Amino acid sequence: MSESESELMESGEAVIESATVSFADLGLSPPILQALADVGYETPSSIQAGCIPVLLAGKDLLGMAQTGTGKTAAFALPILSKLHLENATPQALVLTPTRELAIQVAEAFARYAKHLPGFHVLPIYGGQSYGIQLKQLARGAHVIVGTPGRIMDHLERESLSLAGLKTLVLDEGDEMLRMGFIDDVEWILEHTPAERQTALFSATLPEAIRRVAQNYLLTPEEVSIKAATQTVAAIRQCYWQVSGLHKLDALTRILDAESEFDAAIIFVRTKLLTEELANKLEARGYSVAALNGDMNQQARERVIEQLKSGGLDIVVATDVAARGIDVPRISHVINYDIPYDAEAYVHRIGRTGRAGRAGTAILFAAPREMRMLRTIERATRQPIEHLILPTQQAVTDRRVSLFKERVAQALTTEDLDFFESLVSELETEQEATPERIAAALAFLAQRERPLRLEEKPQHAKKREYAEYGLPRPPRYERGERHERPPYRGRSASFPGEDVGEDDRGNAVVMTRYRIDVGRAHGVSPKDIVGAIANEGNLPSRLIGRIDLYEEYSTVDLPNDLSKETMQILRSAWVRRRQLNLAPDNGAPPPRRPSGGRAHKPYGGERFGIPPRDEDFHGNPKPWRSERPVGRFGRGGKK
Ligand code: AMP
Repeated sequence: MSESESELMESGEAVIESATVSFADLGLSPPILQALADVGYETPSSIQAGCIPVLLAGKDLLGMAQTGTGKTAAFALPILSKLHLENATPQALVLTPTRELAIQVAEAFARYAKHLPGFHVLPIYGGQSYGIQLKQLARGAHVIVGTPGRIMDHLERESLSLAGLKTLVLDEGDEMLRMGFIDDVEWILEHTPAERQTALFSATLPEAIRRVAQNYLLTPEEVSIKAATQTVAAIRQCYWQVSGLHKLDALTRILDAESEFDAAIIFVRTKLLTEELANKLEARGYSVAALNGDMNQQARERVIEQLKSGGLDIVVATDVAARGIDVPRISHVINYDIPYDAEAYVHRIGRTGRAGRAGTAILFAAPREMRMLRTIERATRQPIEHLILPTQQAVTDRRVSLFKERVAQALTTEDLDFFESLVSELETEQEATPERIAAALAFLAQRERPLRLEEKPQHAKKREYAEYGLPRPPRYERGERHERPPYRGRSASFPGEDVGEDDRGNAVVMTRYRIDVGRAHGVSPKDIVGAIANEGNLPSRLIGRIDLYEEYSTVDLPNDLSKETMQILRSAWVRRRQLNLAPDNGAPPPRRPSGGRAHKPYGGERFGIPPRDEDFHGNPKPWRSERPVGRFGRGGKK
């Protein structure tokens, strides 16, 4: 977390008490409340509780929130509540830094607008054919969600009119800045009606974003998520980064291999998910129940009583339903879905480590949620350790030892005479040894929950997703081929092994290549993208990060480029230099200017923001701009 972010979190300014209000209290319209009930959201997250009334009241807003806090609904719900359906011209525009986010946000709008007949949302992003977009725009839409470059193009071509715009949302402002879109964003702001409502969401507030807020927001209300300072020292906290394995498989491994396990609460985000996950765990032989706000008080109390008495070992709950539960035998809290904020996290993990006992809290975090994890660490002032998932062998060993314990106990405590004579009968009838018969019985006893953990064949997994009516998790969550998440735009930063997506959305491993043209030759990232895309016939989404150095540059491309493509790219020319494309071995650069940094990064200095991380030479990572900056003038809100 950056300084500005932590300052905000600790300032206490405009901090919102989460979960004390309901969606209905916030003043949302009935069709929207109905859609929220359908998707199973129980209560607003803290950013939603803070932002929705401000946006409904028509005020400008500066929201400090990152992905995972529920910020999409925080702006989508009030926009939808105020929409004039009869008027199919754009009333709201949401600008996002990436194509993926534009699609996600548009999908969220569609989900929340389920009961708004005739509602239309249109995602507009670079890379998609203009033909399709022009047709869709001509058909009309109430809400447009798009990336700045393409929106600007349509405004310039006048294929998009924002004359009737009421609300403009800038989503992930700091990411837009990092990706070099801020001038485009300002240009768009200047080409929208002055009386519009503007909301800016950003996880951090670098100077350039503050400036945008000052210039384009009119006395905005500031909303940030609440910081949690409660101490949770008695609890062992760890996280598993979702990768290589489906979350459910990871969960069962953890449940089976944790030696101090007694009982657990597993947190998920919605009521529907509590049922779904409880059913799946039950099918795998766990004694488990769901706990959510749809259950009446009596049913909830029954579940908690059973958990107390040992009739149940696991409860799958939402935040609200689990609030205040005091069951000393809860040894584990599992954050199956990451909480919205640090405060919710503290509430959740406080369900364990009670009455002086030890407790463990495990958090599942997808790669894109790692930022929220760091926010939680900062807010709770406690490190969250990286958890290495138990191996298959460890799980098998643990199951076998528990099985042996159960057999040993039955041998000493149970009256086995009847069963002994049964074995004798089987011995004669089947002509089998007692060992063989015991083996068959052991097999039957563990059939529901096998002692040996084996990776399921892919077809069985597919069947399982289908059985629960679930979309198959992305490849990186299923662990079928790659352990990394899809490559998200050009901001990922794992040199040499990023993952991109091919045209069917499958993951593609990226690797870093070096080319013999650098800043000294006057090259720009645009030249490089152009040459590689045109000469090598590669779609631009498969052209990743580009770093410019004095004498050479590096570019991330799929690691399995065909021989022909390699050959073409080796001999392609840019700025009168042959590229000589070759895998980058990370060797130090040929020339280092004396003093200071070896290579001046492209981008970072230009936007006046601190670089987020470093490249593998120890230099700051640059950020690529897709458009030339400074093309358009700027000015204040008109
Ligand atoms: P966002 O921060 O907008 O990316 O949202 C993160 C996730 O939280 C999305 O999957 C939403 O569906 C989910 N979500 C947002 N608000 C709520 C809520 N009030 N209750 C339950 N889930 C929510």
